[in-house]
Amino acid sequence: MSHQKKEETIIPEKGTVLSAEKGTKRVILDILKKALAENLFDAVLIPAQVPETEAYSWILLQDESLFEWADPLPPVMTVQGGRALSSFSKNGELEQNIAALLRPCEIRAAIELFKLKQVNLKNITLISLDCPGAMPLSNYMSDPQKTKKDFQHILEKWENSESLRPVCQVCQHFSFIDGTAADLHIGLLGDKNKNITLIPSSPKGKKLLDQLEFGTKDSVEKWKTEKQQLANEKIKRIDAFNREWKKKINQANGFFNEFNPCINCHNCMNVCPMCYCQQCYFDSQAINFKPEAYMQKAEQKGALRFPLNTMLFHIGRMSHMVLSCVSCGACEDACPVSIPVSQLFSMVSDQTQKEFKYTPGMNREDALPLQDFTEQEFCEVEVPDECHEKAPEEAK
Ligand code: SF4
Ligand code: SF4
Ligand code: SF4
Repeated sequence: MSHQKKEETIIPEKGTVLSAEKGTKRVILDILKKALAENLFDAVLIPAQVPETEAYSWILLQDESLFEWADPLPPVMTVQGGRALSSFSKNGELEQNIAALLRPCEIRAAIELFKLKQVNLKNITLISLDCPGAMPLSNYMSDPQKTKKDFQHILEKWENSESLRPVCQVCQHFSFIDGTAADLHIGLLGDKNKNITLIPSSPKGKKLLDQLEFGTKDSVEKWKTEKQQLANEKIKRIDAFNREWKKKINQANGFFNEFNPCINCHNCMNVCPMCYCQQCYFDSQAINFKPEAYMQKAEQKGALRFPLNTMLFHIGRMSHMVLSCVSCGACEDACPVSIPVSQLFSMVSDQTQKEFKYTPGMNREDALPLQDFTEQEFCEVEVPDECHEKAPEEAK
């Protein structure tokens, strides 16, 4: 059973092509500035460099003069945008109009959180943009200037680079998301560095282009062709990536070996936009026991490793959120001992999501698979003799 209402992404034929001679980022900021000046929005949620430092953060920008610090495509993802939008919007409905500019994986996280009632999208216009990826946070922290320079080069050429985070190198959803995820998409591919293409992806997005007097008269064909070329390259890379990880994990103790250096700090969970529980079981008293209980366990096993339940934490976290994992890489960036957390989660989520025929964050109307689960689903696994539904292989 498919949990996707729409199986295919339909990209509109027309949009607006604008000159990017002043620089891509400058043009994007000018569009947002214009929308703010014309009162189409009361504020813009956007990444920005913290003045006089190398740090990046999210800002809810109302004062136009602060646009000079905003950066639509920072070299790093310091806080996942879906998480930032959730902190801002989950506790009530907005009366003012807000634009939020996020990378595609951040928009997808926001849509999953919207389904979980942890993002409120009333009066929020979501704007996505073609994303070249992000650099590992640890590299940026050790040498911000070099990392910025490398990232600028990637942004100009749009070629794959091993200096990007591994999940970004194989990211399949780096561009336009399905029609109900974002409202407006900013295409940087096509006439790279010369033009940008604004593509409406909802009636709200189209209205915004009309209000800004850009209209939707230009063909988006050039952008579409180049986007598809890049998508094809990434599909080849993700196949190889998944094969390699599966091989490693299928070896004896494969999964355990990867997580062996874990210090159980839970950073990966704390930064993950899809770890949405208010109280995590693995941080609760439910798994804290009296010393005698630990003594007994140590006696049974010969020794007990502390901190306890490290593997249980990873497997538990994975089973809770893997259907909504958007492969954003935030968990890996936050790991102090360089465990390839997001690569492992991404490989498992890719396989699991395919089984459920569900891609998280593509469409606001798609129900979460576990909310939508039917009795007959996976009966070919649970009760093969009684199952009347064909197994996916037989159904082909
Ligand atoms: S995973 Fe990386 S490439 Fe994909 S949208 Fe997120 S930051 Fe961009
Ligand atoms: S598990 Fe990691 S890659 Fe997946 S959504 Fe959470 S932070 Fe992103
Ligand atoms: S961030 Fe790294 S060390 Fe910390 S719990 Fe996650 S995997 Fe373990």
